[in-house]
Amino acid sequence: MKIAIAEFSHETCTFCPDRTTIESLEPYVTRGSSVITENKGIPNYINGFINVLEANKAEIVPVISVGMAPGPYTSWFTPECFEKYTSEICTSLEKSMPLDGVLLALHGAMAVEGIDKPEAEIAKRVRATVGEIPIMVTLDLHANEDHELTDVTDGVFVIRTYPHIDSQETAEKAAACLVDTIKGKVKPTQALSKPNVVSASIFQASEYHPMKVLYDACRNFEKQEDVICVSVAPGFAYADVVDIGMSIIAVTNNNQDLAEKIVEEMKLLAWDLRYDLNQKLPKTKEGIAEVISLIEQGKGPITIADGADRTGDSTHVLKELLAQGAKNFALPGMSDPKAIYYLYENHQVGDNVKLKVGGWASEYSGNPVEVSGNIIFMGSPEYRLIGPMGKGRKMKDSRIVTLDMGDNRFLVISERMRGANDSAAFTAAKIDYEKLDIIALKSRVHHRAYWDDIANIDFKIDAPGIGAANLLSLEFDNVPKEAFPIGKAYKD
Ligand SMILES: [Zn+2]
Repeated sequence: MKIAIAEFSHETCTFCPDRTTIESLEPYVTRGSSVITENKGIPNYINGFINVLEANKAEIVPVISVGMAPGPYTSWFTPECFEKYTSEICTSLEKSMPLDGVLLALHGAMAVEGIDKPEAEIAKRVRATVGEIPIMVTLDLHANEDHELTDVTDGVFVIRTYPHIDSQETAEKAAACLVDTIKGKVKPTQALSKPNVVSASIFQASEYHPMKVLYDACRNFEKQEDVICVSVAPGFAYADVVDIGMSIIAVTNNNQDLAEKIVEEMKLLAWDLRYDLNQKLPKTKEGIAEVISLIEQGKGPITIADGADRTGDSTHVLKELLAQGAKNFALPGMSDPKAIYYLYENHQVGDNVKLKVGGWASEYSGNPVEVSGNIIFMGSPEYRLIGPMGKGRKMKDSRIVTLDMGDNRFLVISERMRGANDSAAFTAAKIDYEKLDIIALKSRVHHRAYWDDIANIDFKIDAPGIGAANLLSLEFDNVPKEAFPIGKAYKD
C-alpha cells in the first residue's frame, strides 16, 4: 500500500486586515520527509495518519504541511498563494503515482479571492490528478463546507471536540477507513446537509449545551450498523463566504440512503438549537462589573473569555478592568509592536514606565489605553505547552514585556498576538497565575481545556471585535440569505 499524506489547513478570518500570502505562510511550511519528523509524536492530524499507516505497513508519501502562521489571524488568500500550494500538492502526487490512496488534512474555513469553495477545489484537483483511488479528508469543526467536497471525496471526517483535542483520533479514523477501503472491507458512501445555522465560536464548546446535544446524536447514530462516522462542523462565522455555517456529514458503508437519512434528521435537530447557538452575552462594561461582583462574593478565580479579538490588540476589557478598579488580574497578551519597540529602545527590567498600549489594528480594537507600572520581565521566552491543547508543543514568544501595575495586576505587552491556553504562558512571563482572581484571555473555547479545572467560572463577554459573539455586529456580503441569523431573510 502506498499512501500520500498532505496538509493544507487555514482558518481565514475575512474581517481581518492582512491578506494571506505566500510570504506569510512559507516560513512555516514543511515538505517531504520533514512532514513526518516534525509531526511524529505530536497529537495532531499528521501523527494520526502516520500511526495507522505504519501499523498497516503502508509506504507513506509525505507531501507537504501548510498551515496557519502563528500570530494574528489573516484574511483572504491571494489567488497566487492558494495556487502555489494546491498545484504543489498535485504535482507531487502525480510524481508519486501509482498511489493506492490519499489522506488530506484540510481545515474547512479557508477563504480565497475568486474561489468560492477552496477545500472542494483542492479535493477536485487531487481527484483529477490521482483518478479513482480512495481520498479521505479530515476537517476542523470550524469548517464551512458544502456537498461539493463530499461529492468528490470518499470520506470526510470532522473533529468533534472544542477545545480541539481529537485531531489525531479523527485522522486515525480517516486513515483506518482508507486502509479498509483499499482492502475491500468497506465501501464508503457519504452525504452532507446544511442546516443554515451560523454561530459564534464562543457558543460551540463541544462538552456543553447546545453542541453536546448534537455530538451525542452523532455518537448514537454511530452505534447503528453500517454507520462509519457522523460529524457536525458548527462552522466558522468570521469568514464572509457562500458556504458559511454548520455542515453535517455522515459516512456509511455502502448505504447512501442511510447517510442521507442521517444528515437530514441531524439537520432538523440543529435547526431547533439555532437560538442556543446564538445567545446574548453581557457587553464589556456590564460584564466586567459582574465579574468584579462575583469575585467579591468569593466565586473566583474567573476566566474572562473575550473571543472577539482576532488581532490581539483589543483594549475593551483592559480599559474596563482598570476603570472599574479590578485587582488581582492578569492579561497575558496585548499586542503592540510600536510599544515593544519603544520599551526595548528606552527601558530595562526594573524601570517604572507609563505608556499607551493597544487599539491600533482594526476599527473594532478600541482606543489605546494608558498603563503604568514596573517592568518585571523583558525577553522572548521559549516554553512548552502543558495543557491538553497541544501538550508538549514548543512555543517561542515574540518580544514581550511584563508590566506589574500594582495591586497584583499584570499586563504582558507583546510584539505579536499572544494567547495563553494554559498557564505556561503566564509562568514564562513571570506571572504567578495561582495568585490571580481574574485571568483575562483573548480566547473563545480552547482555553477551557486547561483553565476550567482552575477557574470556577468561565465568563463570556460580548466585546466589539472581528470575532464578535454577536454576529449581527458584523457586515456580511457573501452569505446566503437563508443563513440564520445573518442572512437577509433574518437581518431586515
Ligand atoms: Zn477550530
